[in-house]
Amino acid sequence: MKLDVNALRYLTKDDFRVLTAVEMGMRNHEIVPAELVDRIAGLKHGGTYKVLRNLLKNKLVHHDATKYDGYRLTYLGYDFLAIKTLVNRGVFASVGRQIGVGKESDIFEVATEDGTVLAMKLHRLGRTSFRAVKSKRDYLRHRRSFNWLYLSRLAALKEFAFMKALGDHGFPVPTAVDCNRHCVIMSLVQGYPLVQVKELQNPDDVFDTILGLIVRLAEHGLIHCDFNEFNIMIDDDEKITVIDFPQMVSVSHRNAQMFFDRDIECIYKFFNKRFNLKSEKNEVEDGSESDGEGTSRPSFLSVKKDAGSLDKELAASGFTRKAQVDMEKYIEEDAEGQDSSSDDDDEIGDAVPIYSLKIDQDHSDELDCNLTSRNSGGPGTFSEEHGTSCSG
Ligand code: ADP
Ligand code: MG
Repeated sequence: MKLDVNALRYLTKDDFRVLTAVEMGMRNHEIVPAELVDRIAGLKHGGTYKVLRNLLKNKLVHHDATKYDGYRLTYLGYDFLAIKTLVNRGVFASVGRQIGVGKESDIFEVATEDGTVLAMKLHRLGRTSFRAVKSKRDYLRHRRSFNWLYLSRLAALKEFAFMKALGDHGFPVPTAVDCNRHCVIMSLVQGYPLVQVKELQNPDDVFDTILGLIVRLAEHGLIHCDFNEFNIMIDDDEKITVIDFPQMVSVSHRNAQMFFDRDIECIYKFFNKRFNLKSEKNEVEDGSESDGEGTSRPSFLSVKKDAGSLDKELAASGFTRKAQVDMEKYIEEDAEGQDSSSDDDDEIGDAVPIYSLKIDQDHSDELDCNLTSRNSGGPGTFSEEHGTSCSG
């Protein structure tokens, strides 16, 4: 989907207040009754309804009157909440062009006040399940039980935590800057995805570096699980950076060995095909660990033996066991339900141009502040912290 941030400039405090109220309502309603939105927002004189019409016009919420008069956030609405919060924190000041589209993410350039360009990844887990629901495929129906806000937020939280920990342990990953809701801000990697590279000066060295990384990750207790030419960036000096971490697992995962071998296999295959790397290492086609001449594929069991405990550190970092289990369930179901309809329209609708935007700071008081003071609705409506803050 495209992200038109132009409207962000014109949204008022009340607009954001009501948008936040819809977000809060979505904790326990797929479609939030208008009346509940009004109660949470606590605007005077029916102000909420007027604001909702404006949000609807800007495609920040979706109206649904099938069962009752209700609203839910669109991706765009959720994007705006995250962007606004991060801008208020001073993390960046403008949104630029789109630099990547993943199956379940959109990546944009953003710039800080002083002109530093960073990368913003907006997670869109559940994008495919929306389509599944739309196309009424029965066997995917149960995926409705996953709330896309929750899943996208988990993916961002996990990605941020892993990126940070890996960076701290010296792995070549983007610098994790901040995260909020489904949005991760990281340093912009110079270079290109390996898949776009047709020629290397030192394919052997690059191959060894990449294999070495898979092994070193496992020695730290982790498996990437999507280690392939799409998630490896390489620059003109053939220095590599690994990206994309939401699917990582611990070496103690029940399928760890399979994931590890699959990551290794992907790299062997790619280098073989693209760079014709027919080293003796590459001639092992049957998945066995040794070619009988002393060169061998990295063996999961021998790596695991000495595995460190980065996986446990991460488990303690706020990315909870339940979050991990929910993510894994989703990823597994997603793998089962893969279809080729991935370029259907999404729920935001029409493609809209991307504008470079200097966000107006006047309206940008911290979203999370002061909601209680104006709340005339039910007790405790605003008591929970909302959104996801990774940096406190
Ligand atoms: P997905 O999980 O959807 O696969 P990725 O994290 O792999 O998303 O990003 C998709 C694409 O966006 C990448 O292939 C890359 O081209 C680009 N990209 C992602 N992160 C960065 C970054 N930090 N710097 C530069 N480009 C990036
Ligand atoms: Mg990727």
